[in-house]
Amino acid sequence: MSYEKNLTQIRHKPLKLSRFERFNSSKVRKIGKSVHHCRKCSRTRGIIRQFGLLYCRQCFREEAERLGFRKYS
Ligand SMILES: [Zn+2]
Repeated sequence: MSYEKNLTQIRHKPLKLSRFERFNSSKVRKIGKSVHHCRKCSRTRGIIRQFGLLYCRQCFREEAERLGFRKYS
């Protein structure tokens, strides 16, 4: 995108860089679906949070046997 060129220019100007990060950085959320994402593919839908797995359902099917699950899907 076009802002990448701006970032290289701004990097030499600390005041402008701090303002850029303050107003243009994405919002850090505490709730919502963007909080949890798959640790393998970073998908946000179909996350299994039980037992602290944090895998999406697709990656869980691939990793379940390696993790020691006997029954899955
Ligand atoms: Zn995944």
